[in-house]
Amino acid sequence: MIETSLIGFSRGEQTNSSFYAVNPVSGSDLEVQYGSSSGKEVERACELAHLATQPLASLSGAAKANFLRSVADRLDASIEELIETMTMETGLPEGRVRGETGRTSGQLRMFAKLLDEGSWVDARIDRAIPDRVPVPKPDLRTMLRPVGPVAVFCASNFPLAFSVAGGDTASAWAAGCPVIVKAHHAHPGTALIVGKLVVESVREHKLPEGTFSLIFGSGQTIGQSIVKNTHLKAVGFTGSRQGGRALYDLASSRSEPIPVFAEMSSINPIFLLPEFEEARMEEIAEGLFSSATMGVGQFCTNPGVVFYPDNEVGASFRSLFVKKMNTFGLAPMLHKRIYESYISGINQISQQNGVEELFRSDSYSDEDSSYAGPCVLNTDMNCFLKNPLLSEEIFGPFTLLVSYADSDELFKVILGLDGQLTGSLFGPESSLTKHNKILDLLETKVGRVLFNQFPTGVEVCPSIVHGGPYPATTDSRSTSVGTAAILRFARPICYQGFPDTMLPPELREANPLGINRTES
Ligand code: NAP
Repeated sequence: MIETSLIGFSRGEQTNSSFYAVNPVSGSDLEVQYGSSSGKEVERACELAHLATQPLASLSGAAKANFLRSVADRLDASIEELIETMTMETGLPEGRVRGETGRTSGQLRMFAKLLDEGSWVDARIDRAIPDRVPVPKPDLRTMLRPVGPVAVFCASNFPLAFSVAGGDTASAWAAGCPVIVKAHHAHPGTALIVGKLVVESVREHKLPEGTFSLIFGSGQTIGQSIVKNTHLKAVGFTGSRQGGRALYDLASSRSEPIPVFAEMSSINPIFLLPEFEEARMEEIAEGLFSSATMGVGQFCTNPGVVFYPDNEVGASFRSLFVKKMNTFGLAPMLHKRIYESYISGINQISQQNGVEELFRSDSYSDEDSSYAGPCVLNTDMNCFLKNPLLSEEIFGPFTLLVSYADSDELFKVILGLDGQLTGSLFGPESSLTKHNKILDLLETKVGRVLFNQFPTGVEVCPSIVHGGPYPATTDSRSTSVGTAAILRFARPICYQGFPDTMLPPELREANPLGINRTES
């Protein structure tokens, strides 16, 4: 049996091109075959999304919230089916599937709550002053409205929370946009379970057919043809820098360029400040160990580089951390390509001048499966500053330790850093005042700055920022986690001189929805 794409309410046709998901634990193909979509199907999905644009844009916040809650409920109810399929496709344990299901339904409900409240539309009202001299002031009212059809690329490392009904999709629907999802080749079965329940919710809430489509096929062909389609207005992506950049360049070169919100690569530097205390060494080494190995290091916020003072305390910390990494053992990676790029990345870095191998698990090179173990390398600031390869992301349980002589060296290294999702400072509170220039500089490089905390375990809430300057993302003004993610898929529209009854409720004089507005 071949499973095919969901093109609105229809199933895709069988084509000559198909693929299987691979069980990363055994290395063998799973039973179900998935048929890639044809270019014609992509066009149909985009046409349906185009037709759904106006009906979805005119839905009330309450109607969108009900839809999001119904997807969340169906997702929670599918937990057993998700556990069965997702553990086979990803090698992730049952606990992670449960946790990610809860996070995904929680995200949908978080956006539903945002819509219930309604003030996210950022309504601004400037009332007319007809007798103003020398010229009358017109009545101007502005609010955020949906951008139109959005393509979402599923992430390999978040098969639920950043995939079919994940954060990008939830925020696009909340804004009122139709969504076309390109499934990740590593977890098509998980994608299909979620895709089918989304279609049920679309039908239940009598939303237009083009509210949602799920497409199977390769990124290079099918993924790119979605992005090229003239009906498409924005893209959400989580994955490699190469993939995100390819889609960004493609979208920019269209005759009508469109925004691509790609979350790509980050080494999430950790800075143990010069005053780093011996008394906290055990606690911080343990925290770093669990952050660096969480999810076999396959999180975008994985701390890849740690700067430590070149003194006795720093040296003891280094030994302690290496000892802890030594206890991790082996674990399956999400898919073969990630495993291969992890292995080639650590091979390349360990051969660089001035880089010393402190620990490397030696039994990950099994041909059939994708088991990987941790690796800790060490270098000094001089080598780090001279060699740009050392600041590239290595996706997996890898840490590069870098010793530094003084705070001037820390300042210099931050100055040269690429954009990052996060940057974490460790030390006593007094060190923050002492090194305030370091903090000020770090702020220019990251989306989230942390003090005495580790970057993994991203809290999903209104105040979170999961973004950062390039190459962490393609647009540092946005976040892909939290309620502010909705802003990526909305644009301001100004109504000038309109009669009250013809305005959206959010902008009417009586403020019938009772939302917060900026008024004069
Ligand atoms: P990926 O290779 O970038 O793939 C992500 C999605 O984009 C897939 O659906 C893929 O299609 C598609 N795609 C990739 N290149 C494309 C292109 N040139 N044009 C159009 N579509 C394209 O990411 P991945 O599979 O998740 O993992 C590969 C590497 O990405 C990892 O080793 C890691 O280095 C990095 N990564 C980083 C993060 C992070 O958050 N920092 C997260 C995940 C992965 P296919 O289905 O055809 O492959």
